Amino acid sequence: MPKRVYFFGGGKAEGQGTQKELLGGKGAGLAEMTSIGLPVPAGFTITIDSCAEYYASGKRYPKDLDKEVRANIARLEKTTGKKLGDPSDPLLVSVRSGAAKSMPGMMETILNLGLNDVAVEGMAKKFNDARFAYDSYRRFIQMYSTTAMGLSKEPMEEMLHELKHKLHIKDDAEIPAPELKTLCQKFKAFYREKRGEDFPQDPIVQLWGAISAVFNCWEADKAITYRRVEKIEYLKGTAVNIQQMVFGNKNDRSGTGVCFTRDPNTGENVFYGDWLINAQGEDVVAGIRTPMRLSELAGKYPAANKQLYKAREILEQHYKDMQDLEFTVEDEKLYMLQCRTGKRSPAATFHIAAEMVKQRLITKEQAISRIAPEDIERLFYPVIDAKVSKNELAQKKLTTGINAVPGAASGEVVFNAADAEALSKLPMYTPQEVEKIAAERGLNADQKELLAAERKPVILVRKETSPEDVGGMHAAQGILTQTGGKTSHAAVVARGWGKCCIVGCETLNIDYAKQEFSVGSTVVKKGDYLTLDGSEGIVYQGKMDLVKPEMPEAYYTILKFCDEIRTMKVRTNADTPYDAENAIKMGAEGIGLCRTEHMFFDSEERILAIREMIVADNIDSRKKALAKLLPIQREDFYGIFKAMRGYPVTIRLVDPPLHEFVPHDEAGQKKLAETIGLSFEKVAHRVEQLHESNPMLGHRGCRLCITYPEILEMQVRAIMEAAVKCVKEGIKVEPEIMHPLVLDLREFSILEEHTRKVANEVMAAAGVKLKYLVGTMIEVPRAALLADEIAKRAEFFSFGTNDLTQMTMALSRDDAGRFLPDYVDQKKAAIFKEDPFQSLDQAGVGKLMKIGIAGGRATRPGLKIGICGEHGGEAKSVKFCHTLGLNYVSCSPYRVPIARLAAAQAVVEGKAALKSDKGAKAKAAPKAKASAPKARKASKPAPKKLGKIKVKAKARAGR
Ligand code: ADP
Ligand code: MG
Ligand code: MG
Repeated sequence: MPKRVYFFGGGKAEGQGTQKELLGGKGAGLAEMTSIGLPVPAGFTITIDSCAEYYASGKRYPKDLDKEVRANIARLEKTTGKKLGDPSDPLLVSVRSGAAKSMPGMMETILNLGLNDVAVEGMAKKFNDARFAYDSYRRFIQMYSTTAMGLSKEPMEEMLHELKHKLHIKDDAEIPAPELKTLCQKFKAFYREKRGEDFPQDPIVQLWGAISAVFNCWEADKAITYRRVEKIEYLKGTAVNIQQMVFGNKNDRSGTGVCFTRDPNTGENVFYGDWLINAQGEDVVAGIRTPMRLSELAGKYPAANKQLYKAREILEQHYKDMQDLEFTVEDEKLYMLQCRTGKRSPAATFHIAAEMVKQRLITKEQAISRIAPEDIERLFYPVIDAKVSKNELAQKKLTTGINAVPGAASGEVVFNAADAEALSKLPMYTPQEVEKIAAERGLNADQKELLAAERKPVILVRKETSPEDVGGMHAAQGILTQTGGKTSHAAVVARGWGKCCIVGCETLNIDYAKQEFSVGSTVVKKGDYLTLDGSEGIVYQGKMDLVKPEMPEAYYTILKFCDEIRTMKVRTNADTPYDAENAIKMGAEGIGLCRTEHMFFDSEERILAIREMIVADNIDSRKKALAKLLPIQREDFYGIFKAMRGYPVTIRLVDPPLHEFVPHDEAGQKKLAETIGLSFEKVAHRVEQLHESNPMLGHRGCRLCITYPEILEMQVRAIMEAAVKCVKEGIKVEPEIMHPLVLDLREFSILEEHTRKVANEVMAAAGVKLKYLVGTMIEVPRAALLADEIAKRAEFFSFGTNDLTQMTMALSRDDAGRFLPDYVDQKKAAIFKEDPFQSLDQAGVGKLMKIGIAGGRATRPGLKIGICGEHGGEAKSVKFCHTLGLNYVSCSPYRVPIARLAAAQAVVEGKAALKSDKGAKAKAAPKAKASAPKARKASKPAPKKLGKIKVKAKARAGR
């Protein structure tokens, strides 16, 4: 029979702090605090398993629970020297719930249990204080009636309120004893009226009533909803803690409080909290009176203050983390009633971890493990100013959508990309306005200049977005779409920039022609202000102040720790010198993916040139168009190389199907025909020709350069000429030319030879020699399977896991939004744990990666391998890449810090796994020689460890 009750008291506890799953967070904390010598009122905990049993057997108590409870009451009576129901000096207890995870406000507590009409008189005599005794009794009747018996709270609250009003009293503690006594009688009469029976007088009856109340609250609607929302549905139940009462409501030398061992907002190492004199339980939280700051305790009650500081130190030394405490002071003696790891803001998370390393409380590795990827994300996003009142938020709320990218944005509504770009170039203020604001705020010349340089903030509202909108999306502060999910074009692109984005906002009724949208009867026109809260997915009307959080010093400290320990490099996906600059600031160590096609969308001139190239019907006119693009691309590459200060830069040659570049509407085609001097029919015909049923599997990637080698020639020339220019200027460069969508060695060889020919020509002509690499993406399953062969010529691999996922799963990323949610929904099909486009599918796509890595490195042992899909910035996928032995991950600039963190955490977790592996082995076979694999550096991956994939011996011999 399992042990169902765990005792704590008198300096000893049967349970311990690690047993949260059994005793609940509160029970485990009480046991642990007792064992480390803190003053905790004695008591016992009924296990969570007992609660689970109670539900499993149709709400019947487990057999013999009663016996165990009785034995523990006896023990409690012995420890405290008081007896439950004793008419002259009764033992009073609290009955408290507590699950394995904290569920604030979801379950309630009953205090002062054990009082009845006789015991209350005994208590009054014993303490010579009738007010105190009857205050305790009225609290108990109130709590028991509402919490255990389900009476509504208001009537009794109302009676209490009326009484205070009648007596012209504000404070509960001022009500005289006789009045309290009458109040108790009124409460009991009310109870009898509602329940049809007397208020229970037998403490044992009261106790079981309270225990079942705690068990039952587990299945209350609000608790179930809370668990669903917080995704903690796996919890089994709640424990019940029964604990001797101590009395903060005894007199003015008593009180109750809650505190944090450090400031939970900033993380500063100061004691932080509130307390109330002569009060009990949740009075502090309920805001009945204005509580006092903790700092005032020192002056008033130096003895209690000293004890509390001592407890704080003991707890921090013990738990090595910031704690959230509940305490009560009775006659200036401190009692600890609860401790748990305190919730904190992202900034505080960093601050506390860094400072605890400095204090030598924790190691750098522990500090790294304490940061969640979301903590970093949340540090970066602007948020709606906390000064905006709840009331205002409620009033201005327009509608909700899917919270695709967190952060907030406020700006003028526009309905197309061109308007977004145009508007975002306009100054925010007219010169007159600048003068006026500057005068009002007393700005200096520099500040004034900054103000004048501010541009209009824009919110781009679309039904959905497409690659042509990228420019406008970039210019906008926030993006709102009517359709799409978290992996839609809008979401993916916005996430890459860390730009606030709400998608799938289906209540929007967009009318592009009228340049307005409506939600119900509300109409929002172009130029109206909207504020988006991307974290919550809420759309507000009007303008709201946003604040950009400042990076705390500790953020840099912790990321430095990460950089010291991680073995995998972190690069970035960047297409412009601006992105590259930004990424360097974020800690990027090179570019893993520079998408040349994004450069073409940058201006009218560029898009025209590329269109001219595409519609050209013979090689000469194509070459002519390409010649226009050459200097443009060369300049771009030069800028990027320069920004990257000698870090490696991987440039991918043109990748998307050509039809994505050409206009599909008649007007656009006419305009194109006119500008390049071709007939409209010809242009239309060419666009028609480019149409494909399955463009993602069509004429794209390196296939374009197989058909049109002149495109390769232009791009390689631009890259190498830019590199040569850098070398001449003394700027270090390390170009890596990458061919996308390669599917085998033959195909790659053609491209590689041509690439080298052009590159060598450029270098010879310039009389400059520089190191460059030619490699390939591995994004077609066939390439992963044939990686051993491709590596004969390819000098590096980069896993393009977006396409690799798409093709491995035969799942179109752009269309899967319609049904993928069902696959991911854990209540529905639950085929995937997560969206495979967000978190890498380790079982399937991961297996292909293993094959590709094993093959590639069998042929070319030192082969440099990275990843450049969206997954390169997702923590779990990054950790997986570390175990695969990748040299680097590459992700969008805003994800770089997250990748740095995840890469470091992968090292820490790897070490821990190795340790527990060794421990388990030593346990299983104590005499056998330790056979755990040696720690392996990610920079020197061991292909042997990569699962069961056999590597062809011939391929290995081939090198
Ligand atoms: P919650 O889970 O909502 O925090 P608790 O079980 O911690 O609920 O109880 C709320 C408050 O009741 C505590 O913070 C404490 O002030 C008071 N309380 C609980 N048990 C006791 C006790 N044995 N003696 C005095 N006060 C208590
Ligand atoms: Mg509590
Ligand atoms: Mg691709």
